Formats: sequence, C-alpha cells, structure tokens
Amino acid sequence: MAEQKATNVTWHDHAVSKAERWALSGHKGAILWFTGLSASGKSTVANVVDHKLHSLGKRTYVLDGDNIRMGLNKNLGFSAEDRAENIRRIGEVGKLFAGAGVLAITAFISPYRRDRDAVRALLEPGEFIEVFMNTPLEVCEARDPKGLYKKARAGQIKGFTGIDDPYEAPEKPELVLDGTKPIDELADEVIAYLKAKGLV
Ligand code: ADP
Repeated sequence: MAEQKATNVTWHDHAVSKAERWALSGHKGAILWFTGLSASGKSTVANVVDHKLHSLGKRTYVLDGDNIRMGLNKNLGFSAEDRAENIRRIGEVGKLFAGAGVLAITAFISPYRRDRDAVRALLEPGEFIEVFMNTPLEVCEARDPKGLYKKARAGQIKGFTGIDDPYEAPEKPELVLDGTKPIDELADEVIAYLKAKGLV
C-alpha cells in the first residue's frame, strides 16, 4: 500500500459538485469492475459494453492492461504487493472517472478479494459494480490466446493466477456472468443491469 507522503495537501473545495457533473453527463458515474481469470473474457466483454453504451450516448472509458500496465503502472510487476498497488491505483483512477460522470469500465484479473474490497470501500454505495466473469479454468486454458497458460504449465511463468497463484472469486458480486455464453449476450446482461439500477 502506498503511504501518504505529502503532509501539506488539502482538498480544494470544488465549485462544481459531483451531482452537477453527473447531471451534465445525463447519468451517474460508477466503476464497472470486471474480475476473473486470464482469458475469461473480461476485456472482450468490457469493450463490447463500452461500444454499446457509447452508441447509446453514455460517457464511458475502459481502463485495461494496455493503458494502465504500460503507463501509470508500468513500474509494477505481479507479486502480491505489486498486484495490490496495481489495483489500488486503478481504483483511485476509476473513482476520479466516476466523480467526473463517466462509467469507468475496468478489466483486470484482480485475483485478491481484499484488493477489490479496498476499491469498493473507496466509493459510495452503488458506485462500485463488481462483475464476476465466471468462466471455468478449463475453458480459459483452452482459449489461451496469448499462450500464457501453456507457459505457466511449463513453469516458464511463475505465480500465474489459476495455476500457481490463487483466484479468489467474489462473495457478493453485483453481477455474475457465465463466460461460456456468447459475448453479445453477456454485454447485454451488463447493460440490462445498469438500466435496472438507473445508472444509464
Ligand atoms: P481476459 O480479458 O479475461 O483475459 P479476453 O477478453 O482477452 O480475456 O478473452 C480471451 C479470449 O477469449 C479472446 O480470444 C476472446 O475473443 C475469447 N472470448 C472472450 N469471451 C468469449 C466468449 N464469451 N465466448 C467465446 N470466446 C470468448
């Protein structure tokens, strides 16, 4: 965990409130937090949801490996400590997006329950929507688009989630998706949930 190093920082009293920013967006902000094994479909479904919401005129933004692990978090690896810091930073960035009236959609394995719960605790109730991509390990391993499971099984990658590092499934996720269903159907389930909750 990163400790607070600056001692002379105070929050500005923002003239524009969160409610006003949300009103301008026409919907609330939130984090849609996809979690699940590698190759479970998080990124694919997240991006389809992003496109669908965008075409409905909703303000969305996907935070995923490309723009986070290669940028903001490029100094972090895959130890438990670095994974925790990775998730903490993503959570903080997602919170800023949510406050700005954007639906931030994150797609990270985020294998540890306590790291995800720590992000949930950063947000107001209803602003953190945990989406568990529930895809059996065998299915993920058969997909293996980047050959990572193969390498992990061969011992060439250590600490790979699902192989020699644990994945802690959410206990009370807002949504559970069966990752063996068609992608489009899964994206529509997410959008139906958001509509039912009055988020879009
Ligand atoms: P993750 O982001 O969880 O690592 P990806 O979204 O990259 O997983 O998906 C891994 C692979 O599985 C991709 O090749 C993707 O096209 C495929 N895939 C994802 N979801 C489904 C699905 N519901 N049905 C069939 N194939 C899928």
